Amino acid sequence: MRIERKFRQELGRRLLAWYLEHAADLPWRRSPNPYSVLVSELMLQQTRVAAVVAYYNRWMERFPDLSALAKASEAEVLRSWEGLGYYARARNLHRTARLLVADQRGRLPSRMEELERLPGVGRYTAGAIASLAFGKRAPLVDGNVRRVFHRLFALPEGTRADHLWEIAEALLPSPRHCAAHNSALMEIGRTVCMPRTADCPHCPVSDLCRSRGGRVFLTRKPSPTRCEESAALIVQGDRTWLEPSQKGRYRGFWRLPMLDALRMTNLGEACRLSYSITRYRVHLVVFWAEWREKESREGRWVPREELPELPLPIPHRRALDRTASSPASPPALPMLRDGKGEAVAFPPIRK
Ligand code: SF4
Repeated sequence: MRIERKFRQELGRRLLAWYLEHAADLPWRRSPNPYSVLVSELMLQQTRVAAVVAYYNRWMERFPDLSALAKASEAEVLRSWEGLGYYARARNLHRTARLLVADQRGRLPSRMEELERLPGVGRYTAGAIASLAFGKRAPLVDGNVRRVFHRLFALPEGTRADHLWEIAEALLPSPRHCAAHNSALMEIGRTVCMPRTADCPHCPVSDLCRSRGGRVFLTRKPSPTRCEESAALIVQGDRTWLEPSQKGRYRGFWRLPMLDALRMTNLGEACRLSYSITRYRVHLVVFWAEWREKESREGRWVPREELPELPLPIPHRRALDRTASSPASPPALPMLRDGKGEAVAFPPIRK
């Protein structure tokens, strides 16, 4: 797609003028450096700005630079990220810090190709670091920019990602203005040209936009898929049985064991809560339980005072908080029995 020089210049001029006036005051914009851009960009992947600000501030206090992050244990890193979700980002950030401290004297490279080789740093994050932190003439396309381009140029659905990157590259101004230009595009997508509403009357590029005035394709949020989970809360005095998570999104976390009908006795419901994760709405029921048979199983009894230090999935931490005011041992409820007097297995787990 050929973009006329006059159009590019006018678009660039409007973006810069708008950004100077409307840029949100965000902590990572106050004194950007390569590390702060890396942290903020990884936190912002799939996550709203409002949710990230408090995490970012706490993170920078605890791990102010790559060297501090490299020295931390994985449990400390995951504990600081707890609740932000998509924990692979935290593990990748930690690995990146260790790699850079070991091989690059704790410095982030400025070239896109080198940045893209770091764990968890894709083309978008590399473009953000190169342009926002190093002032390089580097393009970037995230979900917000993709949407603005689609509407601005009335691109058909299914437009190739490569084509969007070509547009981003073609629109870049001089290196001096690249950071503001890229930030303005993302900010317009976040605050003006949003997925489900497009505030065209307040858009700085409205009279250059081919979708303005009703031809905007608004994305609909799909309804979440419901699923159900059951977990076991097994306590002894002030200690709770927790198990390490070895795989999946909670790798490196400690968690309540999932109910195991063969080995645990269900003593009754402790609490229930619901939470959203990606496209799922999960309904979690936590049952008081005790071991029915001794066996070797990976896990440990964790004293209550140690819980704040361990990374736990947020729903499990909430369940522990809610039941903390309960008696130290689970209520002595009668075991659930069927008509023949046999102990009843746990409720079925439906997905
Ligand atoms: S004019 Fe409307 S559709 Fe076009 S970029 Fe601006 S907000 Fe989006």
